[in-house]
Amino acid sequence: MTTIKEVTDYLEKLAPIPYQENYDNAGLLVGSHNIGVTNVLLTLDVTEEVVEEAIAKNCNLIVAHHPVVFKGLKKLNGKNYIERAVIKAIKNDVAIYAIHTNLDNVVGGVNFMIANRLGLQNVQILAPKKDMLCKLVGFVPVADTERVLEALYAVGVGQIGNYDRCSFKVEGVGTFRPNAQAQPVIGQANQDEAVLENRFEVIFPAFMEPAVLKTLRAAHPYEEVAYYLTAITNENQSVGSGAVGYLPAPMAIHDFLVFLKQQMNLTVIKYTDAAVSKIEKVAVCGGVGSFLLPRAVASQADVFITADYKYHEFFDADGQIMICDIGHYESEVCTKEGLQHYLSNKFSNFAAILSVTVTNPVRYFV
Ligand SMILES: [Zn+2]
Repeated sequence: MTTIKEVTDYLEKLAPIPYQENYDNAGLLVGSHNIGVTNVLLTLDVTEEVVEEAIAKNCNLIVAHHPVVFKGLKKLNGKNYIERAVIKAIKNDVAIYAIHTNLDNVVGGVNFMIANRLGLQNVQILAPKKDMLCKLVGFVPVADTERVLEALYAVGVGQIGNYDRCSFKVEGVGTFRPNAQAQPVIGQANQDEAVLENRFEVIFPAFMEPAVLKTLRAAHPYEEVAYYLTAITNENQSVGSGAVGYLPAPMAIHDFLVFLKQQMNLTVIKYTDAAVSKIEKVAVCGGVGSFLLPRAVASQADVFITADYKYHEFFDADGQIMICDIGHYESEVCTKEGLQHYLSNKFSNFAAILSVTVTNPVRYFV
């Protein structure tokens, strides 16, 4: 039986927990990692009704985008929907896992799922994050270099955008003198040694540092491994907020709105006047997105599709870009299908089921 941990480890390959925003609470909120998974229920939000659906469909793991426990719980009396959902889940051995801003911030995450719905091409992160990368410089005998690099690549070192196994190396002479307590692989106690070595450089996501150093020490032949780490301040093009891409062909404004309504299954779109007559470049941000407007404008997108816009924030479009507020639920509900697709590709001994509970608390009277 697949354990919850195996499922969440796989989800975290797509959306590592360290990529969540600092205010967030992604991860396993209810339940234990070691339990075997019967089936998984995918939902945007967790309510009591969703937990009931999970029980009825023999799902003992709910994977939700929004963390039902967000600000913390000090009492569990069932006095609000959060406490009632958590109590019901615990009583019925249903685990709850949230994949929230960590899924917002990755290639293939929420915004790429929206872009996929809209058929966007050449999709990239709209606002890549800085200070997420680390550089490892290591020194290794020439004959052992490829083996050490292979071990590092295997744990995810050396990825830059669509390229993996990226490294730089240069040959030189390493010198050392072992003392009497040393057990050198090459050389003898109290004698100077010089070895033909490679100095190699590779980058990796900073949160992987413990795993990378463990791998380096295990693969490196020396008793003492010479290396150093440097924080890289470059933007990481694979991690950040929003996404931007191109429609296959430019669309007139009216046609685009009709298309958007159809593709995202919308009742209503709140929008500002477009600055251009045709829409081609499209920026998206699922959920609350007004903080990204400057980046959407800077990317020269024709439209910015997001949600939860306030009245005065619409003025910020200021003739530079069209803002489309499509609703928070509507913008992100497609993550259910996206995660179903992702899980189904890997696991076949349980079902990843789409919740049919409409958790949107907002109704439209049209
Ligand atoms: Zn959201």
